[in-house]
Amino acid sequence: MPKYIVESKSRAELRLLAEVFRMLLNLTDELRVPIVELLDVLSIHLKGFSYEIVPDEALPEGIHAETDIRTGHITIKESVYEGACNGLGRDRMTIAHEIGHFITLCFCGFKLQRGFKGSKLKTFNDPEWQAKCFAGEFMISRRLTANMTPIEISRACGVSYSAAYYQYKHRN
Ligand SMILES: [Zn+2]
Repeated sequence: MPKYIVESKSRAELRLLAEVFRMLLNLTDELRVPIVELLDVLSIHLKGFSYEIVPDEALPEGIHAETDIRTGHITIKESVYEGACNGLGRDRMTIAHEIGHFITLCFCGFKLQRGFKGSKLKTFNDPEWQAKCFAGEFMISRRLTANMTPIEISRACGVSYSAAYYQYKHRN
């Protein structure tokens, strides 16, 4: 959604949102978020949330999953869903990213507007950055991983090394 800008949110605000979301889901002390199971939990308990698994050919190459923010419907490629079921960090994070879009835009209703042509997208206004930031904070609790190295974070939280390292670098 590069042509949209969203009301500005800082990492600290999105971290707090991720913490609250964990609390609501009873995941406060859970190092490893059961992200696949969460899709079904959210479908039942979160109004407006739905998802489907589609054959890989149904989405363009390079797109692993997508969220329709008008309907709250998340579409996930079959290979990504299977990867996440098998514990693959990158695929688990892809699902968290889409849930991030749903939480920020559909559930919290952060205001979205069409970007003016040529207008610069600042990081904090970028819906893609916000979803990525939320997903990282949600999957890798700063509170629970405060004393861990990136490799330990990667193993404990079921995320890729690069995602673990990114959060490690941005934890302050
Ligand atoms: Zn996205």
